[in-house]
Amino acid sequence: MPKKTKIEVNLTRRDVLTVAAAAVGSAVVAPLLTTGPLSPFGALKQGQLSASTEPEHENISRTHHWIMVIDLDKCIGCEYCLRSCCAVNDVAEDKPWNIVVEERTSAGTTFYFSRPCLHCQDAPCVEVCPVKATYVREDGLVMMDYDRCIGCRYCEIACPYDARKFNWEKRNDENPYVPTWGIPEVERRPRGVVEKCTFCVHRIDQGIRLGLEPGVDLDATPACVNICPVGARSFGDVLNPDSQVSQLIANNPTIRLRDELGTESSVYYLPPKEGL
Ligand code: SF4
Ligand code: SF4
Repeated sequence: MPKKTKIEVNLTRRDVLTVAAAAVGSAVVAPLLTTGPLSPFGALKQGQLSASTEPEHENISRTHHWIMVIDLDKCIGCEYCLRSCCAVNDVAEDKPWNIVVEERTSAGTTFYFSRPCLHCQDAPCVEVCPVKATYVREDGLVMMDYDRCIGCRYCEIACPYDARKFNWEKRNDENPYVPTWGIPEVERRPRGVVEKCTFCVHRIDQGIRLGLEPGVDLDATPACVNICPVGARSFGDVLNPDSQVSQLIANNPTIRLRDELGTESSVYYLPPKEGL
């Protein structure tokens, strides 16, 4: 088991996001304020994020483990990722699977924090589901079985990242992101179930069937990664040491949201270069 560096910071201000940033080989810790009044991070009122310099690779036997790396220094807050995701996955406009939040460094510089489902390997949402409608796949993807979901919403409450949304209504609305930002590639989810980001699992599975490489070949890569105009999002197999995501993690400081909870998130953030 690789050694993991973990630093935790507590802030006293209410609704404050705390990030412990760990630089490779040294510890750099700084508080980060949540500026948006409705920020999902602040709204959690759980007050902490933490960081690790080394990914904790699982011991179980796997062929792939799909992860995402989001570079906070590159992200310009355009929300293209959010829009493309809403179009391709036919997501309701008011319940986006991806969110983008404006934040500030301790020096007052604005940056943007985006968040898909983090595909946690020790996922609280999975633990609480009474009917096993949500589960972690062998390749690390946290999946939903909409036929099994009974709509109890335990998972929505258990998720520390506010990444799940409940479908209160049968949707008949037009998707305002279609066709400008993409064409739906999956069916709308039924009323009475919880849904969330899938890392565009349909693209990954179909891509692998066709011999494509997720994260390299566009047809096998999540829509949010492909659309990003500044290359802030990278996707790939962390079990492949030569993949772009493995290289990014190996050569940069990384943050995982609320790592101290032991959720083993599959999304890594590269902090702004000036620090947090
Ligand atoms: Fe589950 Fe939330 Fe983790 Fe996604 S981010 S796997 S919904 S606990
Ligand atoms: Fe940031 Fe890229 Fe998303 Fe735009 S598309 S908000 S730059 S991650």
